[in-house]
Amino acid sequence: MGIPLLDLKAQYRELQTELDAAIGDVMANAAFIGGPRVAELEAAIAEYCGTRHAVACGNGTDALFLILAALGIGKGDEVITTPFTFFATAEAIAHVGATPVFVDIEHGTYNMDVALLEAAVTPATKAIMPVHIFGQCVDMDPVLELAERHGLYVIEDACQAIGATYKGKRAGSIGHAAAFSFFPSKNLGCAGDGGIITTDDDDLAARARKIASHGTTKKYFHDTLGVNSRLDALQAAILLVKLPHLDRWNAERRAAAAVYDELLAGTPDLELPVTREFGEAVYHLYIVKSSRAAEIMDALKAAEIGTALYYPLALHEQEVFTAEAGYTQPSLPVAESCDAATFALPCFPGITREQQERVVEVVREVVG
Ligand SMILES: *Cc1c(COP(=O)(O)O)cnc(C)c1O
Repeated sequence: MGIPLLDLKAQYRELQTELDAAIGDVMANAAFIGGPRVAELEAAIAEYCGTRHAVACGNGTDALFLILAALGIGKGDEVITTPFTFFATAEAIAHVGATPVFVDIEHGTYNMDVALLEAAVTPATKAIMPVHIFGQCVDMDPVLELAERHGLYVIEDACQAIGATYKGKRAGSIGHAAAFSFFPSKNLGCAGDGGIITTDDDDLAARARKIASHGTTKKYFHDTLGVNSRLDALQAAILLVKLPHLDRWNAERRAAAAVYDELLAGTPDLELPVTREFGEAVYHLYIVKSSRAAEIMDALKAAEIGTALYYPLALHEQEVFTAEAGYTQPSLPVAESCDAATFALPCFPGITREQQERVVEVVREVVG
């Protein structure tokens, strides 16, 4: 029996009765767009994150896009972000017409190196978009301080970090606004695409909601252009069943990470993830780094153990952001050192110690 990277079937079995009932309920009521489940989910997420507002939308990418559009960020503007993230972070910035400006990352946490932010600020900078990568918060105090000093917005890409904390605050409540994704494999996932924005800013919430709904607040009357980006009632109903279990699942991920930390300590040519003291990480992924990543991953695959590169190529090196496309090409050595070298080990709620011991055994057959 293999070990998957993530076991979503087990999660369904655990909650099948409640999930099936919630889905059946939406079907019976035939209210598929908007409605009470979506409003309930927005209230529940706002409460969970500790923000005044939550605005549901079609997916995490749209959540980022809607925040940028609602803040009026666009052509000629720059947004400072990390090159070591899922493509959607930079894609959303480029889609509003702004330019993503990449700063290098830290070793071990793989988060944006906040010491490099100051030098990246120009007169065109409008916002900083830190990504709480793999479920650990960026060191936000220096980001907020710098943003305050330069009059910049801070937009958290919290898509991998629902439930993570920074100095007692939940991810999503630290910057001016935050984007979450409910993609099935995220720590809180639905049965398709889904996303949500959190913010304390009344105007920003109202503007994002309007843009997500064809730029209208009054049906069939439009004063601005928007998009169609909604969360389905079915997805909201599913998420409402899962949300009460999120903290336990995140605790199980942390416990599994601690087991790998212990069992893999001292393994030659294997860098373990670094966890900072300022909060609780939620281990969306447990990432290790090795110059022998390809060999280790081959051995894992041969043993039917799930693994994948996160991320095979940093964003500033992607074809779409090359010099030919008009982008300046920074040299970001730490991010580049991760290309094809950082990969995930199975780390999900419910993984057993025996399964983790088997993963470690296979890793140590290659490096160890
Ligand atoms: C998943 C993810 C997104 C995009 O979310 P979707 O719901 O897939 O659109 C954006 N940023 C990061 C860091 C992500 O992990």
